[in-house]
Amino acid sequence: MSEDPTFRIIGNAPAARSLRYEAYRREWDRRGEELDGANYPVHVDLESVAVCDLRCGSSEEDPQGFCQIWTHEHIRKLGFDEHTYKRGYMDPKLYTALLQQCAEMGVSSIKLNYRGEPSLHPEIVSFVHQAAELGFPDIMMNTNGNGGARTRPELFADLVEAGITDLMFSVDAADEVTYDKQRVGGDWKILLHSVRSAVEARARGGGTTDCRIRASVVRTFLNAAEVDSGRMEAFWRDKMGVDWMSISECYFPAGATHQWKAAEWESLSAAEFQCPDPFRRMVITWDGKHTMPCCQGFTLEIDGGPVIEVAENLQTIKDAWTSENFDRLRRAHRDRTWDREGKEGEPICVNCAVTKKPTPIAISV
Ligand code: SF4
Ligand code: SF4
Repeated sequence: MSEDPTFRIIGNAPAARSLRYEAYRREWDRRGEELDGANYPVHVDLESVAVCDLRCGSSEEDPQGFCQIWTHEHIRKLGFDEHTYKRGYMDPKLYTALLQQCAEMGVSSIKLNYRGEPSLHPEIVSFVHQAAELGFPDIMMNTNGNGGARTRPELFADLVEAGITDLMFSVDAADEVTYDKQRVGGDWKILLHSVRSAVEARARGGGTTDCRIRASVVRTFLNAAEVDSGRMEAFWRDKMGVDWMSISECYFPAGATHQWKAAEWESLSAAEFQCPDPFRRMVITWDGKHTMPCCQGFTLEIDGGPVIEVAENLQTIKDAWTSENFDRLRRAHRDRTWDREGKEGEPICVNCAVTKKPTPIAISV
């Protein structure tokens, strides 16, 4: 297995959690180390919504490549219109049915988002409740901290109390000026209230003892100085009380135009990199029409097919996991052929951020 080179943790990772949580993490690591997909995923992204109230990456200064939605707009231009961003909300009945399948096959971890802002789903608190009642060791969410909190200020406290285990706020800034430039359309004060109310709910003993709250940062030229100087960590960890922080370097999809960069990127070869993701995680789109063996955007070639009834055929999540497209992608990593031309190669992996190693460039502002 190779680690994702684009992702790093600032300071310490969260302290040890419950035995069942640690057991699931061991299986997560084992799948990657042994490149063993077994016959079901460890983790499933259930895309509760594909809508967002922000427009990160849409301004002159912060060009395409920043956001999955915008990345998918790019994919659309490459001719994958049917397989890219269609706005919508997951039907609660579909969510319940998929969640039940996940529980029955032994999935340990659920994430309630892929593209978009999950807190905009009107049933999001109930979604977390249902997952907690079914006993998943990990119930995760990435959020912009605005979304549903614009109209329901205590939403993130409610999510903590419903039993979320990993609540990850995409913050990207240590002050309002940088925030407004990078998180276009976001409201800094709402974000601060959301983080504070989640941290306080957890401190009151609401929710599960496995709950951890993270501040996530995509490092760009706008916030690199805040990250590199330690100001970002001092603000979110020391002042706002989050448990941990992650940094990802901003990568631009192939062909996207941009005026700046905050890292140099080196392409890795298959001899150097085997991706662990197709052996342990998958994504299901909000409409149940598409499944993917990783979270890096999708093309016709890696779609495992729908998990909703089509022409009286209902493919299960397990069927998609063992589909030929998923298996082919796993083979390409197990056999280290993904970087080849032709049948054994996987162009999506060649173009993916995860097969690139960034070296951050120091930026002084
Ligand atoms: S909050 Fe997330 S999904 Fe929404 S525009 Fe920003 S990066 Fe994209
Ligand atoms: S596209 Fe390929 S390299 Fe990227 S995350 Fe998916 S499987 Fe891994």
